Amino acid sequence: ATAGGPAEWNGTGVTADGHRVKVLGNVGSAADARAAADAGAEGVGLFRTEFCYLDASTEPTVEAQRAAYAAVLTPFAGKPVIVRTLDAGADKPLAFLAPDTEPNPALGVRGLRIAFDRPEILDRQLEAIALAARDSGAEVSVMAPMVATAAEAAWFAERVHAAGIARAGVMIEIPAAALAAREILDAVDFVSIGTNDLAQYTFAADRQLGAVAALNDPWQPALLRLIALIGKAAKETGKPAGVCGEAAADPRLARVLTGLGLTSLSMNAAAVRAVGASLAAVTREDCEAAANAALAAADPAAARQAVTNPR
Ligand code: PEP
Ligand code: MG
Repeated sequence: ATAGGPAEWNGTGVTADGHRVKVLGNVGSAADARAAADAGAEGVGLFRTEFCYLDASTEPTVEAQRAAYAAVLTPFAGKPVIVRTLDAGADKPLAFLAPDTEPNPALGVRGLRIAFDRPEILDRQLEAIALAARDSGAEVSVMAPMVATAAEAAWFAERVHAAGIARAGVMIEIPAAALAAREILDAVDFVSIGTNDLAQYTFAADRQLGAVAALNDPWQPALLRLIALIGKAAKETGKPAGVCGEAAADPRLARVLTGLGLTSLSMNAAAVRAVGASLAAVTREDCEAAANAALAAADPAAARQAVTNPR
């Protein structure tokens, strides 16, 4: 049942034996959202709100944010959308959230860390998201980027709920957060794994530097072992855990991630159909066998080989 086969997909993420895994889109603009909806995404697993403001020199007003977010949410009325609060810093600097010069921006005050000093900026964004959710009719959840500890996750969830948004989650993209996945899941409603940054921080390898790209390979068994800890915590708590990094866009790795216990996969629109078809062609047991083979592999090449030619 593991042959690739033609890319047939009926639009619902599910294995051949009925195990549900949502296939979602990553978006950063209204055009992206329309493309994801046209590609058949069941919802949005990552809306990168900072992409709306890469050129902004001042903080956008609540009203401007409401309008920008509503334009992205509208194609997904009645469907789940995870909005990520501003992930400024390092590879995505925002002029109005620039920290003092830092020697190592990837390790500095970025993502949710900015909100600890300036919570009013987060609260204004949450107000705009709540208004846009109401306007659009999308089933909106909110998550924070760059969370390191369960205490940070709890702090964020409290502010999200106080803003009248029912579901609060966090990204797991720092190795410490993967190791604390159980405690973090106890503090929030869901988690989503950012494999791009999780790989960068696990391997101490800049995600933008071609010279170390082989270390940032999402098939690295050490990365998959960290992801397995998160899948296990999701099973124990019964709470959703997705993947929204580039790893989710690889149809064969999607099987591995499903076998590790993840419950949704979010990717660029171009990958949606192939990932949906890949899951539809195998059983949950096949996915678990693929996961075990990849976890036991010595390196990314061996992991790919083990999953392509199982047993
Ligand atoms: C990630 O880090 O994997 C992720 C999805 O977030 P971004 O690529 O926006 O940092
Ligand atoms: Mg990230």
